[in-house]
Amino acid sequence: MCGIVGYLGRDEAYPILIKGLKRLEYRGYDSAGVALIDGQGELNVYKAKGKVSDLETYCEGKDTSGSIGIAHTRWATHGEPSATNAHPHYSASGRLALIHNGIIENYATIKENLQSLGVSFRSATDTEVLVQLIEHIQKSNDLDLLGAVQVALHQVIGAYAIAILDREHPDTLICARQSSPLVVGLGGDGDFYLASDASPIAEYTDKVVYLNDGDIAVMQLGHDLQVVNIDNEEQHPKVRQIDITLGQLEKGGYPYFMLKEIFEQPGCIRDCMRGRINVDADRITLSAVIDYREKLVAARRIIIVACGTSWHAGLIGKQLFESLCRIPVEVEYASEFRYREPVIFPDDVVIAISQSGETADTLAAIELARKSGAFVFGVCNAIGASIPRQTQTGVYIHVGPEIGVASTKAFTGQVTVLSMLALCLANERRTIDGARYKELVAELTRIPEKMEQALKTNEQIERLAPIFTYARNCLYLGRGYNYPVALEGALKLKEISYIHAEGYPAAEMKHGPIALIDSEMPVFVIATRDKLYDKVISNIQEVRARGGRVTALVTEGDERIRQFADHVIELPDTVECFQPLMAAIPLQLLAYHIAVCKGKDVDRPRNLAKSVTVE
Ligand code: GLU
Repeated sequence: MCGIVGYLGRDEAYPILIKGLKRLEYRGYDSAGVALIDGQGELNVYKAKGKVSDLETYCEGKDTSGSIGIAHTRWATHGEPSATNAHPHYSASGRLALIHNGIIENYATIKENLQSLGVSFRSATDTEVLVQLIEHIQKSNDLDLLGAVQVALHQVIGAYAIAILDREHPDTLICARQSSPLVVGLGGDGDFYLASDASPIAEYTDKVVYLNDGDIAVMQLGHDLQVVNIDNEEQHPKVRQIDITLGQLEKGGYPYFMLKEIFEQPGCIRDCMRGRINVDADRITLSAVIDYREKLVAARRIIIVACGTSWHAGLIGKQLFESLCRIPVEVEYASEFRYREPVIFPDDVVIAISQSGETADTLAAIELARKSGAFVFGVCNAIGASIPRQTQTGVYIHVGPEIGVASTKAFTGQVTVLSMLALCLANERRTIDGARYKELVAELTRIPEKMEQALKTNEQIERLAPIFTYARNCLYLGRGYNYPVALEGALKLKEISYIHAEGYPAAEMKHGPIALIDSEMPVFVIATRDKLYDKVISNIQEVRARGGRVTALVTEGDERIRQFADHVIELPDTVECFQPLMAAIPLQLLAYHIAVCKGKDVDRPRNLAKSVTVE
């Protein structure tokens, strides 16, 4: 969840590291730190609680020189957020400094052993045991750094991406990965960049190596990248070309990444469909479906595994696959699925959805599904991430880097990919009539334009937002395809405004939550025109009868609901199965503006991190 950055080259490392940390700050941000070896061979470590900007302030006037360094933004798992617990951690003698992303599960045992041998610890983290263990092994076995890292990693259970500096070897940077992402960038002059994802590297080089689990990379100035495993066997990871533009990584005039990403959605959805829907807008081609047609068409059941927002997209996917393809679908929280001894058949297709492609629980669910012989299909955004590499095939959502912690464009991208996949499979399975297939494909291509129209609700929502800032609780209601959108709307509000919110299928309200309704409780109802429209109107009446304040999302031109709702937000009309792509937008905007009114840091909500690489 944290961000790791490293640099080894001829330039000053500090500015590169700080810029890189800022690009990764969305991953975790309770504290930050940097370690640099200066020209005199001093290993300097600076750490501060808070954001990267707090670290910068702390470093003012300090010696930040050096052309080799590592840096970290932390998302605490062991030990409170504090400067002491922040990374990098020094070894006992001060010779080594180490940063770590992940969790060392057997840290307590290792710590006890080391303490009994007289090693003392400064922090409460699991991470510090690694650096102390490596130094202890280095000293007692007279090993070089690589050898000591290999011996140490043999003893470690858990997930890690680590990077280590040794002041005795100021031209060498070593890193290793196990279940946590790491990317090495290869500069033109034999210099190296290191990061948790490609975004801090993209402005320096487009050549990267995504490390695999078990890889240890040794970067030495002027030498080729060396990759080995813990048994010192040479590894040959591929050098890949990345295609990220700087514009994609910057706010481009918007006050927050989240708002930029909400407004990017029409363009993102066009990119997502580009090359997949033909120019006549009557056919979808997905290479994954061509390559694995038989497996996918014969699926006896689909199991969708995901977490958070991706799980909500999965619930929409369920309705799409069931109604269009007539394949039964189960949608599972990856974290539950992985530990539940689920029944998985070899002719099941497991669809794993994750924006980052690094979600630890989803990766574990994939491993379980593969062991049971199921076919695993990935739906991810980050190119080259672990999930696309560990699934048999899949479809990228291609919405560009998503930096805002609260997912927006990734959600609509996931729903778009699931819609294309469901239509493709329905056509192959002959469960959809030809004319209906063409009608739906054509409508999907109209969605970006309709999203542009839906975004015009921004001003109205900005005006409405202050009304809701004092709410302690909110209820989101929807039915059918719009029920998962209600869940997603509530999640957005919780994530960034810290107002408690619940999403419910509208008709379930009377089985409990209706007890909460009074004039203090804002209720957001998705009431677009579809086959459940009249039923939803009755649900609105039930809320009104109890004094609840209703804000309704309706299809444009709807005059009927205006009579019962306090506020009405109009959305462009579309077919029922694509309504989530419309309704998500005003709910994202609503959460955004309410959070801004409350003075919250929308892109860096408390306690959250973007890429959840711990379970
Ligand atoms: N487990 C480590 C800690 O709590 C690393 C957390 C992270 O990935 O940021 O310090």
